[in-house]
Amino acid sequence: MPNAKAYAAASATSPLASTTIARRDPTANDVQIEILFCGICHSDLHQVRDEWNEMMPTVYPCVPGHEIVGRVTKVGSAVTKFKAGDLAGVGCLVDSDRTCAECKQGNEHFCNNFVLTYNFPDKHLGGVTYGGYSDSIVVDEHFVLKVPANLNLAGAAPLLCAGITTYSPMRHWGVGKGKKVGVVGLGGLGHMGVKFAHALGAHTVLFTTSAHKKDDALRLGADEVVISKNADEMNKHMGSFDFILDAVAAPHDLNAFINLLARDGNLTLVGAPPTPFQIAAFPLIFRRRSFSGSLIGGIRETQEMLDFCGAHNITADVEVIPIQKVNEAYDRMVRSDVKYRFSIDMGSLKG
Ligand code: NAP
Ligand code: ZN
Repeated sequence: MPNAKAYAAASATSPLASTTIARRDPTANDVQIEILFCGICHSDLHQVRDEWNEMMPTVYPCVPGHEIVGRVTKVGSAVTKFKAGDLAGVGCLVDSDRTCAECKQGNEHFCNNFVLTYNFPDKHLGGVTYGGYSDSIVVDEHFVLKVPANLNLAGAAPLLCAGITTYSPMRHWGVGKGKKVGVVGLGGLGHMGVKFAHALGAHTVLFTTSAHKKDDALRLGADEVVISKNADEMNKHMGSFDFILDAVAAPHDLNAFINLLARDGNLTLVGAPPTPFQIAAFPLIFRRRSFSGSLIGGIRETQEMLDFCGAHNITADVEVIPIQKVNEAYDRMVRSDVKYRFSIDMGSLKG
């Protein structure tokens, strides 16, 4: 069984540190991948610090990372989609039962038996799955994505989570020409949301708590930027949005954004802070507004998103870092100080 180099957290309060982990030998349907880049998602931080304890307690050691891009090094005898040397991507999912109604419709992310890329029971080796802060991974080919060759690889890695998590609800809620669309929070997810809303042809408004991000938001594709702490700026948009995507990683007031929706407008939450929200009745029942959530996306739609990015040359804006800077990167992410996604150069694990 091959060993892989990785970075793991030993507890909720310990920094990530170098370690070795086991990866299985590829079975007939598996693809073995040398990881080149892995994005840092705020979910990695929630999980490493056990902030989601009530829903998904963390098993230590924890190797996070679900925005993986790499090169195929070996394939099993039954693999048809990939061969050694191909580019490959892996997101949040590495398995599901593939027999339930959701799986049959391409909704592996809604399968009751899905396996996430890290911190989920590992059927092959026991223990839990280990994610992409590592030099290699072995994944069933059904869960491996094709990465368009024209994309910058460091910037493509975040598409595997931040990309699909913002693309999927926008497609579901019909974001496109003639629609007024808001994105809340200019972080890893939010900046992808701005890029997609713009590319899909919507009038795109970015809501931020960080006034200094305004110029970047306009450059990334926003038509307007609203400082969400400024009540006057917010009031100008009252009752006017068809759709708002909320990608904030911390507790905040959702009612302020529900009030900005037009009749039948929808606010979709993708941010996952651990503390519950308070939703007031009146902003929702007036104008038949709705509030919903969204979780990543299925494999078919993830490939569609990657192909869309290939065609429109869309990648994340990344700060590429060596793995040795991962703890510093976490601290900066908590302060919303990243433009706009960290992408770890896994070559740094070799040193
Ligand atoms: P991120 O890069 O840290 O961005 C979060 C943004 O939220 C910040 O850039 C900041 O934007 C805003 N923000 C932070 N603290 C805030 C506060 N106290 N009040 C208001 N706004 C605040 O995080 P991310 O990686 O994009 O992830 C965002 C959230 O989505 C996380 O909770 C993550 O776990 C979750 N997530 C969910 C899914 C899913 O499937 N639903 C998938 C991936 C991630 P401004 O500076 O512009 O205000
Ligand atoms: Zn993620």
